[in-house]
Amino acid sequence: MPQEELSDLQRQVLELKRQRNALILAHNYQRYEVQQIADFVGDSLQLARKSAEVSGFDMIVFAGVKFMAEMTAILAEGTPVYIPSREALCPLAGWIGPAKVRAAKERHPGAPVVVYVNTTAATKAECDAICTSSNAVEVVESLGAETVLFGPDKNLAEYVRRQTGVKVIDIEPLGHCYVHQQFKLEHIERMRALHPDAIVIAHPECPPEVQGAADIIGSTGKMVKIVAEPPEKKFIIATEVGLVEQLQHAHPDKVILPAYEGAVCRQMKKTTLEGILRVLRDLPPENLVTVPDEVKDRVREVINAMNALHSAAESAVVAAGK
Ligand code: SF4
Repeated sequence: MPQEELSDLQRQVLELKRQRNALILAHNYQRYEVQQIADFVGDSLQLARKSAEVSGFDMIVFAGVKFMAEMTAILAEGTPVYIPSREALCPLAGWIGPAKVRAAKERHPGAPVVVYVNTTAATKAECDAICTSSNAVEVVESLGAETVLFGPDKNLAEYVRRQTGVKVIDIEPLGHCYVHQQFKLEHIERMRALHPDAIVIAHPECPPEVQGAADIIGSTGKMVKIVAEPPEKKFIIATEVGLVEQLQHAHPDKVILPAYEGAVCRQMKKTTLEGILRVLRDLPPENLVTVPDEVKDRVREVINAMNALHSAAESAVVAAGK
């Protein structure tokens, strides 16, 4: 995060963080004042990978939604993980549960199941592989299957279908993220007419027609990378507005515009500085993130497989000199 003036509340959080020997992880959609005091900010894949490397801290505060905090609790086992708001639940994760996955498997025996990380730990335990929006295509391709069951996001499923040619069957044909579903083709067309020199980047959770109108489709992690690269100076971003604010602060010399200003994730915004201060001060047991023992090992396996696939892909890129 760029060095900017911090508020008294932010300083209090940082002081308590130091006293508690705590690590604060934050998602790209968090409030900017929360991102500023975090040790690490990223997309869900980056946060999962970071969680697997954590050592030397007495606690972790996870500024994000619950399914992400669960992954951290599994990967950073031994380090207590606190979530500042227990109401920070991703509605997309509510579209499919273990029973729906089992029913899909019965309808399509033999087809591997890939679920998006935006699912509960119990749902992940039912699947063969998990993916994020950064690596969904690679994960599905790595299975080498003709047919794959996929969920819960229908727009990400469509993106994978188009990119891979694999028969991707929706576990829940209506599953979507209400934040990204709000983006309309008109938003992109209006912004392009106003800013014809801007590069349009859309998240793969956006509807297919919005993805089709974008110059680049990518996760928030990819957006951060692209915006940081020269020479382009102007971007229209179709994802949650928290990322747009982060990018504008990080690149004051560039113009970064939201494709639609109403794209706000209410659940991500439930995490506040006050909530972070409270968990650091009181260590409330009800904010401690726990995952049932019976699913932990299986979920750790699928998350580690996803992280390993990503590392292998990175090494291949380096080896190829890209
Ligand atoms: S932006 Fe969408 S997918 Fe992400 S946490 Fe909010 S509701 Fe869930």
